[in-house]
Amino acid sequence: MAVIIDGKKCAEEILDNLKDKISKLEKKPSLAVILANDNPSSKIYVDNKEKVSMELGIKSSVYRFDKSITQGELIKLIHELNADKNINGILVQLPLFEHLNSQEIIELINPKKDVDGFHPINVGRLNCGLEPYAVCCTPKGIIKLLKKYKINLVGKNVVVIGRSNIVGKPIATLLTNENATVTLAHSKTKKLKEITKNADVIVSATGHPKLIKADMVKKGAVVIDVGITKQINGKLAGDVDFEKVKNVASYITPVPKGVGPMTIACLMENTYELYLKQKA
Ligand code: NAD
Repeated sequence: MAVIIDGKKCAEEILDNLKDKISKLEKKPSLAVILANDNPSSKIYVDNKEKVSMELGIKSSVYRFDKSITQGELIKLIHELNADKNINGILVQLPLFEHLNSQEIIELINPKKDVDGFHPINVGRLNCGLEPYAVCCTPKGIIKLLKKYKINLVGKNVVVIGRSNIVGKPIATLLTNENATVTLAHSKTKKLKEITKNADVIVSATGHPKLIKADMVKKGAVVIDVGITKQINGKLAGDVDFEKVKNVASYITPVPKGVGPMTIACLMENTYELYLKQKA
């Protein structure tokens, strides 16, 4: 049976450590969060980010908008937040309302305040092997989990499934930077099972429950499940058929309490790190 990777515990350690460091600061780090979307999951994510910020002593200002918000108003707000010396991090909760252009908004954020690491300058720096101002939270959290459990990545065959800008592509880059041999699979990939069968590490980020079945996993492989899908019964499902795959894998992340808590911990860490960089 696989070792169950405890993302909740690992995240709590990061948050405890941050809380301690922040308590010693005279001026506290601050995070601005923009919610311009009525998706219930986004609201829950933003409420949670606000709650954890407060627990750590990070000042959080949440800007909540209804559908009447215009692109121009959002652009004006980003300019104001960029200019505000009291704001260290700016987070735009995605997706935005459909009538808004999210890429334009992301590109307007000062890269030094881009706490999610989504700005093309930060993505570009990551790809060049340069230090970005911030690394995307979910991929950063995955690398931390792998390191925490001392999983060796050098020369290992890693298959990432999913090529989004927020998870798939950046985790593939980070794993390449860790000297893994990375294959990036996606919805148009043919014979996925033949590819995953050769993987020493599988990272799945598709949002398709039970896409990864036991017969797709090599014995002893490490399986990282990023997927979060809310089922009809209200429970969260990952991409991996956890109950069966855990009998084949050597390490596996559960859903919930796997990658999810690490994302928020890394967001808080990014806010703190941007604060330090801006102070320097
Ligand atoms: P997305 O919809 O932007 O991308 C999904 C990717 O999966 C696409 O690149 C697509 O090509 C690929 N894909 C879809 N079906 C596939 C299939 N059958 N075979 C192979 N590839 C397939 O999603 P995203 O924003 O990257 O999120 C992916 C999942 O991860 C979602 O469930 C999301 O909720 C979850 N997520 C979790 C966290 C976390 O903190 N744990 C953070 C971000 C996203």
